[in-house]
Amino acid sequence: MKRVYTIGRYFRKRFGERVYKVPLSIAGFTCPNIDGTVAKGGCTFCLNESFSPNLAQKTSKKFYLRPDSVENPLLQKQIEQVRLQYAATAERLTGKYGVRKFLAYFQSFTNTYAPLDTLKVLYEEALAQPGCVGLSIGTRSDSVTEEILDYLADLSQRYEIWVEYGIQSVYDETLDKINRGHDSANVREWIEKTKARGLKVCGHVIFGLPDESDAMMLETVRRSLAWGIDSIKIHPLYVVKNTALAVDLQKGRFAPIGEERYIRLVVEAIKMLPDRVSVQRLSAGINDATLLAPQWCRCKHEQMRKIRAALKEAGYLY
Ligand code: SF4
Repeated sequence: MKRVYTIGRYFRKRFGERVYKVPLSIAGFTCPNIDGTVAKGGCTFCLNESFSPNLAQKTSKKFYLRPDSVENPLLQKQIEQVRLQYAATAERLTGKYGVRKFLAYFQSFTNTYAPLDTLKVLYEEALAQPGCVGLSIGTRSDSVTEEILDYLADLSQRYEIWVEYGIQSVYDETLDKINRGHDSANVREWIEKTKARGLKVCGHVIFGLPDESDAMMLETVRRSLAWGIDSIKIHPLYVVKNTALAVDLQKGRFAPIGEERYIRLVVEAIKMLPDRVSVQRLSAGINDATLLAPQWCRCKHEQMRKIRAALKEAGYLY
């Protein structure tokens, strides 16, 4: 039986003890695919105010950062959020599991889509928190710059620094269908630039994107590996209310991926991973009234139970 190289196992090898990621969601960050810079509406599966009129009314007066913002009236509030969110999660994880080391995970929206001065303050605030050994920064490949990567490479001399890119699919026709706002060549370019600076890259891949065949999904994994990703997150595409994808679903233009097919593809993807590439996530879902389809995405625990069983049958221990 071969053990799947999970990110937990990577951290234990790298730090000699458990390291958990602490998710942070900082006010004022948005995405160029939402604010109209690249497109409006965002990815078709993304719940955001530019697609949903109700949300838009609530957020219309809010301030959002852009890379060329000349001032940031939210900076003090953002610093407080880093401290408070980090402390709340880290204390809970220490109390529950005895974990002492953490990676601050800038998770929501596009976390390099702001002036570098703001990014430096927030990243360094996170790194100054007790037990913080590094950062994981979720972003889009069209929202990093050489300057940002140089700065992160400098930080990586002292800390563990990961950049998480949404790859989703390597097929441009699919990226067009989901209104991704960048092509696959852009993802490849910036992953390679990130890797060239010695930074760690986690690639996010979605199975079940519109009209994709099994071969296309596995090709996305194969090419992402060839671009040099160090870790992978795979998740099924699910549909929530108030998104463009919900409209496609209701009009019969989109059919969600079935559970058995998803699990079979996940097992195939795991078989493709070289020993050095870790796995960060294989499931996704939401168990509330916003989920429209597929219903099997209601329970991530059940997903993982079935994925573990399928992997075991294929000779892998997750
Ligand atoms: S890149 Fe992320 S935040 Fe931006 S529209 Fe797509 S899913 Fe939403």
